[in-house]
Amino acid sequence: MKIPFFSILLLSFVLSVTLSGQDACAAGKKRFTVVIDAGHGGKDAGATGSTLKLKEKNVNLAVALELGRLLYAEKGVRVIFTRKTDVFIPLDERASIANKEKADLFISIHANAAKARSAFGTETYVVGSSSNENLEVAMRENASILYEDNYKSRYGGFDPNRAESYIMFDMMQSSFQSQSIRLAQFVQKSFVSTCKRSDRSVKQAGFLVLKQTNMPGILVELGYLSNAKEERYLNQEKSRKSLAKAIHKAVMTYKEGYEKKSNVAAYEEEKEKEEKDGEKKTEVKEQSTANEEVASNLDSVYYSIQFCSSKVQKPLKSKDFKSCVPAYEYQENGIYKYMYGKTTSFLEALDIQKKVRNDFSDAFMVVLKENKKLPPSEASLYMK
Ligand SMILES: [Zn+2]
Repeated sequence: MKIPFFSILLLSFVLSVTLSGQDACAAGKKRFTVVIDAGHGGKDAGATGSTLKLKEKNVNLAVALELGRLLYAEKGVRVIFTRKTDVFIPLDERASIANKEKADLFISIHANAAKARSAFGTETYVVGSSSNENLEVAMRENASILYEDNYKSRYGGFDPNRAESYIMFDMMQSSFQSQSIRLAQFVQKSFVSTCKRSDRSVKQAGFLVLKQTNMPGILVELGYLSNAKEERYLNQEKSRKSLAKAIHKAVMTYKEGYEKKSNVAAYEEEKEKEEKDGEKKTEVKEQSTANEEVASNLDSVYYSIQFCSSKVQKPLKSKDFKSCVPAYEYQENGIYKYMYGKTTSFLEALDIQKKVRNDFSDAFMVVLKENKKLPPSEASLYMK
């Protein structure tokens, strides 16, 4: 059978559009990565219990593994452990594992000890300057580095036992402070609601392991091994599971909020891409199907959800767009970008985004003013 040349040409055109369209629009899902760090390990036992001589490193590991098991079962969550067995890992290596994995959260799990045997309860730390009481905790936890070779050169002369070493934390304002505090608050609340633990609140202190991680991070103190009653509690498998469940719940609450706010992050990525392209020119091309009442008011600011970009122009009712039809087209630096929905309400836009993400998990909100897409820095001002 003879196939007309034109049919082959048409077929190959349709194929190339469909394939490139799939490439550009099939959103690769970025999973939410949580690094779970069981404090101490191997030759570094951490604190030791007052009566049962329970070793902190074993309590930490048991809770960490259970937390990992719970998070692993969650859709869209990736779990990384700094250790899964009883091995010694230097503090800076723990941080660099998290940095290398570009984690979204770092959770270091510890148990406490104090000279005052009556002290009990849970507390969650973020990195920052230490009060006298918190300094004691930071000193004890940072003393792990004394088990490392060349710790002085590895940590810039830092001596975990000298108060002067901690001055550097006083000037420190982590870029992730507010997110870290939010997570820490969720953890503390969850300890109370899930495990009926005594809440010693969210605190800050100079923890080396948190200083070196480039993401929101917390250090959890599960309870006091120096307190006989708490040591018995931490020795039970049931309690460990309950503590892990509480942290798991807090992480999921944090993740939910994080996803609502991730529009701003998507903007930053987009901005970076734009800068790499070296082109700042933005051209708007409204197609005839565009929402005319919004377009007619040039001063209005409105929101839309960008879900696809393609080098090839697509029909606004393309099959690739799934439920996002009709789409709006926007040309930027020679790339066709497709958006769905137009609204002047941010909350409504969040709802649309949620719907669009069922089909395109990387979809993100954009802000348009006078029909021009605002750069990320400006757009973020409208995202509230
Ligand atoms: Zn510890």
